[in-house]
Amino acid sequence: MNAVPDDSSWEAFDAGTLANAATAALRAYDPGHDLPALRARFGRDIAELGSNENPLGPSPRAIEAMRNALAETFRYPDPRGLALKTALAAHHGVGLDRIALGNGSHELLILLAQCFADPQHSIVFSQFGFAVFPIATAVAGAIALRVPALSRTHATAPFGHDVAAMAHAIRADTRIVYVANPNNPTGTWFDDAALDRFAASVPRDVLLVVDEAYGEYVDAPGLSGALRLAQRHPNLIVTRTFSKAYALAGLRVGYLIAHPSVVAVVERLRESFNVNNVALAAAEAALGDAAHLAKSKAWNAAERAWLADALSSRGYRVLPSQTNFVLVDLGRDAAPFEKHLFDRGVIVRPMGGYGLGESVRISIGSREENQRLLDALP
Ligand SMILES: *Cc1c(COP(=O)(O)O)cnc(C)c1O
Repeated sequence: MNAVPDDSSWEAFDAGTLANAATAALRAYDPGHDLPALRARFGRDIAELGSNENPLGPSPRAIEAMRNALAETFRYPDPRGLALKTALAAHHGVGLDRIALGNGSHELLILLAQCFADPQHSIVFSQFGFAVFPIATAVAGAIALRVPALSRTHATAPFGHDVAAMAHAIRADTRIVYVANPNNPTGTWFDDAALDRFAASVPRDVLLVVDEAYGEYVDAPGLSGALRLAQRHPNLIVTRTFSKAYALAGLRVGYLIAHPSVVAVVERLRESFNVNNVALAAAEAALGDAAHLAKSKAWNAAERAWLADALSSRGYRVLPSQTNFVLVDLGRDAAPFEKHLFDRGVIVRPMGGYGLGESVRISIGSREENQRLLDALP
């Protein structure tokens, strides 16, 4: 039986014209490269330096926990994720009612806009801030206030968040401010003192969302994260993820820590089973393996310094980073550079979509991958 009519009405139908106003303004995610196709083409012999994954892989304890959880996948996961939340509450020294779990922190960043912003509200974020911030704004149909970033030649945070300008950009209709600290794709950060000043200038009826996806990698002096401010600023929301330093990107687990009333609102819209039972078990086990995390962090810091040095000595401008990637500012169209590496099986992240078409973002890979990048440079 063929339900497709053979006249032209099938072709002529366009559900795009039926999309609601917010969705009509959106575009589907552009993954940059078709990685499954590339793996097939190069017989997996590619250096994947485009997605900020931890090449050390997950904790062996997380792998063991995943194996054990597999037999339980015929059951629905715990909709409250209680075991993981209990572990997170102990880890961060906060109450259970202050944590919400997400299918990656990406989901939570979007949910926050959906829960708290309407089309008459504005949302503030930085020019080269994380790509999900403008998408979350559009999902809510809210007004985007994109604040110019610090200059390319700024001494400590080129292309970074200009938090003073962001504070000024907040209007009476502003409902959310998103910052990423450290930020992706720039790798830049602002220190505790700057965050304290910024948080103090954000009115209480504006939610300040601090995305700390790279928080576990941070070792710069004077940078200890936003959670310590939570008691003084009930409007502060911190998001974290198991995708980066915990090396569980494929499982999709993130969380937010906020005032209980924020969590209560998010829980209304959160899909009840958004984090699957394999992911819940793995994240809990990964959190319990402090040694593996410390190893990833130390290794990343050393390897990042090594790679940055090697690139600098070849004449490249490498921006400061507190993450597991570096942004390289070529000062000219980056497309030929990317293509040159691509043809040699080295995948980096193009930045044109961010308006940084003269830069590339390079994740810290294994030593073999990083060496291969260096050998492949034009
Ligand atoms: C990777 C990343 C995230 C999202 O990670 P999830 O995999 O969705 O948890 C959030 N913020 C920033 C800045 C990131 O780079």
